[in-house]
Amino acid sequence: MNLIELKIGRDAESGKLCVTIGGKTVLAGEPDSVPKSVSREHVCLTVSSEGLMILQNLNIENDLYVNSYGVERKRIQQGDRIELGSDHYQLGWDLLEKFFRLADIRPLEQVWKDFQTEKLQLQIKERRFGVLRSATGLLTTAAMILGFMEGSGNGVSLRLVLYIIMGVVSLLFLFIAWRSASRVPLRQQQLEEETRRRYSCPACGSLFTMQSYDLLRQMKKCPHCGALIIK
Ligand SMILES: [Zn+2]
Repeated sequence: MNLIELKIGRDAESGKLCVTIGGKTVLAGEPDSVPKSVSREHVCLTVSSEGLMILQNLNIENDLYVNSYGVERKRIQQGDRIELGSDHYQLGWDLLEKFFRLADIRPLEQVWKDFQTEKLQLQIKERRFGVLRSATGLLTTAAMILGFMEGSGNGVSLRLVLYIIMGVVSLLFLFIAWRSASRVPLRQQQLEEETRRRYSCPACGSLFTMQSYDLLRQMKKCPHCGALIIK
């Protein structure tokens, strides 16, 4: 699917660049800045939703060069040197970008995936600490029972040692659980802030709302700068 289609040529009257987009014709550049070897409808530039840019010569008699090679139809990239007509009029990207801006959001898919993965890991961590906390309670209970038990063959010193070991282990678990209680939510907050910062429009840098990449893909344009979303 093509997002945009630009027809580019020279306006005979003003000698300006003439760009037709969506049925509208716009003149750009200085008067007489475009040589006569550029025709009224010289080339067509299409941009697909995947960000594919195709430059097509509109008339066999037109000269079209991409990076100094004569072409009829060519896939181009931002930054390629585009020249029209036998006078090699250079079609600058600064001019083209007045008509369209692109926001390639594809790298954001990985950002979203990374966020989901770490969020899940943090949830698992929290659950595990929950289990640890219950184990602490269980151990304390066991230690108490053991402490109250009458000596049945075991010496008092062995019971005491077990009691102390369980007490120490309980304290250790309690300590780990206590530490995690603040660590996990802190990391969670940090992670969200980091992702929010990275989840931004590649064209203008404005932050997108924290929504899944699939939802993001449904946008046609950046709501902040209007750049066409390449997905
Ligand atoms: Zn934007």
